[in-house]
Amino acid sequence: MLEFRGAVRVVVDEATETTDSLFVDGGRVVDRPADDVPREVVDAGGCVVTPGLVNAHHHLLQSGFRTLPGTRGVPMADWLPAMAAAYGAARIDPSLVAATTAVGVAEGLLAGVTTVADHQLNWPAGHGDAGQAGVDDTVAIAVSIAREAAALGGRLVFVRGSARDDPEAAATSAEAIVQALVGGASGGVSATGTAGTGGVGDDGMLQVAVGPAGVHSDSRETFALLDEVAARHGLRRRTQANEQVDVAIALERYGRRPLDLLDDWGWVADDVTIAHLCAVTDDEIARLARAGVTATHAPGCDLPMGWGIAPVAALRAAGVTVGLGTSGGGSNDAGHLLADARLAMQVAPLVGPPVPARTVLGMATAGSAAGLGRPELGHLRPGAAADLCLWDVSGVADAGVADPVAGLLWASPGRRPREVWVAGRPAVREGRLLGADERDLVAALERRLRG
Ligand SMILES: [Zn+2]
Repeated sequence: MLEFRGAVRVVVDEATETTDSLFVDGGRVVDRPADDVPREVVDAGGCVVTPGLVNAHHHLLQSGFRTLPGTRGVPMADWLPAMAAAYGAARIDPSLVAATTAVGVAEGLLAGVTTVADHQLNWPAGHGDAGQAGVDDTVAIAVSIAREAAALGGRLVFVRGSARDDPEAAATSAEAIVQALVGGASGGVSATGTAGTGGVGDDGMLQVAVGPAGVHSDSRETFALLDEVAARHGLRRRTQANEQVDVAIALERYGRRPLDLLDDWGWVADDVTIAHLCAVTDDEIARLARAGVTATHAPGCDLPMGWGIAPVAALRAAGVTVGLGTSGGGSNDAGHLLADARLAMQVAPLVGPPVPARTVLGMATAGSAAGLGRPELGHLRPGAAADLCLWDVSGVADAGVADPVAGLLWASPGRRPREVWVAGRPAVREGRLLGADERDLVAALERRLRG
């Protein structure tokens, strides 16, 4: 039994806060135990305690390709081939994704991200033409990514993405990845190796989902075949829509809007989360709400790149659950979800009414978790997974702040938590990563990219 004692405030969920101690047992938040139950006390003095942040949309591979020449201030149509050329030069293989994942997951943990959804879109060259060997290559990529996240103690949602993959090859690979990571009696990477429900491994640390990059890159057939894999295993489906190039290509190729196509293709449904959703119309918002689609806002990518802004207040007002993601280092350069929560709050008044700090914090926690189909994540009510962050608000950057919860977003940009716990285990203490030496991870990536 752990007791987190002395917090300035504990954010239980968007509507509930307390100054009581928070109790954790067996990896779960529990009710206050009887006084004579022995416990280990964790000092939360001077801190606001929040649920661990859930980054609903990342491309961890891009952590190795930040601020590349030719990828800043350019249209998405130029950005995509520039990134693809960089991946091609670096050669995507298990050693590359191990290095980029370790850096990306570590960066996230140090910034309070306890769960990250990695929309993995890029695969070894020619995997679609290489038969079973190509499939095995993709499984090796997925296993490598899952191992690195597990070694650092972060939760991972591995989204088997596709960007112009051969449709059959993508589906065969997705099926094999489900088996390797969370399914099958022979054991996956998940701790127990037994099949979980809905693509979630038994210990909840690893989840598999599927996700074509969007109608701009993938055909109806790819969506349909990945759909079959999702249906077979109860996987969540994730895609991207309505960034600049997506709208342009949908119009040019099909004479339609991206969401019209997704609707026709069976991807406007309540097990689907759509990232970005820039410049959606009122009709489209209503349609998404009716279908129960969840959304992921990624302002840290879309805003600086000029690819659009999702109208978050309007989506929420219509009843769409909105989560928050950073998207990848190729466009955002940082996996700091709280910084992007601050940006989401700051940019909201440009495209609708302001969105309060607590609401945005709720998006970065419960909102993201809802889209992943993970009701145990993103809050700290009894029964919740014990994923939590201790944010020290005792320094000068928080001095004079009347509301320390709103202050998490308004004050001290770029703040990092003092401690991060995942499933009741510490991953960060005194601001330091426990699962690895940060410098080793940086050196390993440098060696792999330039060695
Ligand atoms: Zn993205």
